[in-house]
Amino acid sequence: AAKAGGRGQYRFYSSDLKDGAKNRHQIEEDLRDAIDNHQLAMHYQPLVCSKTHMVKGCEALMRWTHPERGEISPADFIPVAEEIGIIRQMGEWALNEVCRQAMSWPVELRVAVNVSAMQFSQDDFPSVVKSALAESGLAPHRLELEITESVFLGDTGRTQRMFGELKAIGVRLALDDFGTGYSSLSYLRNAPFDKIKIDQSFVRGATEEGSNNAAILSAIVSLANALEMETVAEGVEAKDELDLVTQRGATLIQGHIFSRAIPSEDFLERLKEGKLKYEPLGPDKYRAA
Ligand code: C2E
Ligand code: MG
Ligand code: MG
Ligand code: MG
Repeated sequence: AAKAGGRGQYRFYSSDLKDGAKNRHQIEEDLRDAIDNHQLAMHYQPLVCSKTHMVKGCEALMRWTHPERGEISPADFIPVAEEIGIIRQMGEWALNEVCRQAMSWPVELRVAVNVSAMQFSQDDFPSVVKSALAESGLAPHRLELEITESVFLGDTGRTQRMFGELKAIGVRLALDDFGTGYSSLSYLRNAPFDKIKIDQSFVRGATEEGSNNAAILSAIVSLANALEMETVAEGVEAKDELDLVTQRGATLIQGHIFSRAIPSEDFLERLKEGKLKYEPLGPDKYRAA
């Protein structure tokens, strides 16, 4: 699991990448060329309304298909990309690719992109976002940026300025993996988040007897409601988990119970076939959704 080692811990030697320094070096070299070699792709996982089960948006998740090793998990290669300093190029590629693909869909859906704390700390990040929007023509309110609590470890003034610049562009902000970082509730005071994503570790096992997770879910949901932020329950796999997070008031559901992350064409196909039913954003609804 991506979060097994805790956030901020590098996982170089886990699973796919465990066979030593030589391989690690090779992986780094291969990752440097992954964009140019067209080995990266963005896949999309729907977020559905907990009440209607209609698709309200999706999250873009990066996939790397290595020519010899096959699919490598982003939980493994994103930390490597951060370490060797190529996360900015990868993140910029992802933003452009996602905006371009979202524009090619005949549906008005919102799409979320993960932003690494390292990208977020770059002064030119807002202009990267602006140019991805300008070049694709995607409306700013259709783009959501997912950041984690780790951005608050940086310079406070700079972080606040970054929030201001991004909100001025008109994109939405989501706080990802809520509850797993170096959490302090104080930063919620001034951060203009539209959405809080409740980490899947609170969903998993929440239906088991004696688990405190259900109580934590409720508390996060009421905090978010009071702050007028939406909530997403991440990683919902089973029917009893779906029932529980719905009953606890999460606004949106994301998880394998509805769909895994799938390529853009497949996502479109399912929408067309009606296997995934969607609700268009509409001009006035985007604030509430
Ligand atoms: P995340 O942003 O928290 O993304 C959610 C992760 O949960 C995804 O893992 C998704 O496939 C997985 N997931 C969704 N539903 C379920 C479920 O029902 N059960 C289980 N077990 N897992 C579920 P994925 O795609 O492996 O990505 C892992 C992490 O890698 C992401 O966590 C994010 O932190 C990072 N990541 C992925 N794509 C990008 C990217 O383009 N840029 C950056 N900076 N980070 C990315
Ligand atoms: Mg995310
Ligand atoms: Mg998450
Ligand atoms: Mg995550």
